[in-house]
Amino acid sequence: MPDPLDLLEIDSLFSQEELEIRGAVREFVRERVLPDIGDWFERGQFPKEMAKELGALGLLGMHLSGYGALGANAVSYGLACLELEAGDSGFRSFVSVQGSLCMFPIWKYGSEEQKERFLPKMAAGELIGCFGLTEPDFGSDPSRMRTRAEKRDGKWILNGTKMWITNGGIADIAIVWANTEEGVRGFLVPTDAEGFSANDIHRKLSLRASVTSELVLENVERSDADVLPGVTGMKGPLSCLSEARYGIVWGAMGAARACLESALEYSKTRVQFGKPIAAFQLTQEKLANMAVELEKGTLLALHLGRMKDEGRLRPEDVSMGKLNNVREALAIAREARTILGASGITLEYPVIRHMNNLESVLTYEGTSEIHTLVIGQALTGERAFD
Ligand SMILES: Cc1cc2nc3c(=O)[nH]c(=O)nc-3n(C[C@H](O)[C@H](O)[C@H](O)COP(=O)(O)OP(=O)(O)OC[C@H]3O[C@@H](n4cnc5c(N)ncnc54)[C@H](O)[C@@H]3O)c2cc1C
Repeated sequence: MPDPLDLLEIDSLFSQEELEIRGAVREFVRERVLPDIGDWFERGQFPKEMAKELGALGLLGMHLSGYGALGANAVSYGLACLELEAGDSGFRSFVSVQGSLCMFPIWKYGSEEQKERFLPKMAAGELIGCFGLTEPDFGSDPSRMRTRAEKRDGKWILNGTKMWITNGGIADIAIVWANTEEGVRGFLVPTDAEGFSANDIHRKLSLRASVTSELVLENVERSDADVLPGVTGMKGPLSCLSEARYGIVWGAMGAARACLESALEYSKTRVQFGKPIAAFQLTQEKLANMAVELEKGTLLALHLGRMKDEGRLRPEDVSMGKLNNVREALAIAREARTILGASGITLEYPVIRHMNNLESVLTYEGTSEIHTLVIGQALTGERAFD
């Protein structure tokens, strides 16, 4: 019997090492995430203590090299994101923020001293990072940010508010993007710095097993040693987002796979009108469409992963992957929900949790509309953002 979750045998396209990394993450999710994720989601908690376990597995900044990072290839990183998100988008978000949004800019644009000071501890999960770009009034259009850093008496003084920041309330270090006279710069701000505060956002109905916060900076003082020296302008934060979006292309397929698996299992055991609902043509149509989109999305992720490993992945390619895979993962989750009937609305099954999580994934790291415009510009040469 072919594996119903891999009818096309996509597994045969991965190397032994990639499959081993995937196996280790899958086991971690089965042992450490799945037993408690419903409770964490319900209580609105991310188990911060898991950071060190994720670090010990080599998952933090795993596609970077040196400074305690694993140095895995992009496909392995993608597979890890897929397996983590099959557990919960909150775990994949934690790993994306730590590795792609916080460690990556230090690794790419930081001084040698900054790299040595932060990266090994971040790779081990001993130091948690957050990435502050979005502001209350500037989401899709972050270049108009109000957060400012001004040089006074040789010190940088930062003022502003960042919004919707993953890990904000549990972070030790914030990468804050602020406007300066020279353009946007990245600042390393310890969260115990005077004038810095984080307020967690409550009453979320999506990504509940993840901390999301507002960051407030009131006359926070920093020195030149706390500025990322290697980049000025929006290229800095945008290049980090491209890294993290790449992980989402894979991660979304993890949430989709978990939903298909749950719906498939349920459909074989739930009996109505004297037979399993899996035996009805309408249910099979739903399952078949879900399987087709899961396989197509996984192939797309793999194609982008191989391009990234060959150093030829462009931001518009990542936009295509994020737009398609998150859209299709959401469609799969919604369809799976219908197969589970009333049971599908409870946390006894993973489906509605994934479905709600994917609403955040659709919006963060560039909304589906913004990725559509990126692809539109690549197609036509016309910029339709403003
Ligand atoms: C759970 C969660 C975690 C997050 N974590 C982080 C984080 O760690 N760090 C961080 O910096 N940010 C984070 N974000 C913020 C996220 O990146 C923003 O929410 C996102 O960029 C969209 O911004 P917005 O919510 O302000 O929506 P807006 O930009 O106000 O958009 C509202 C709507 O208008 C549409 N729109 C905007 N401009 C255009 C246009 N030109 N043409 C057509 N439609 C348009 C959008 O697509 C959207 O549908 C997070 C968000 C969430 C929900």
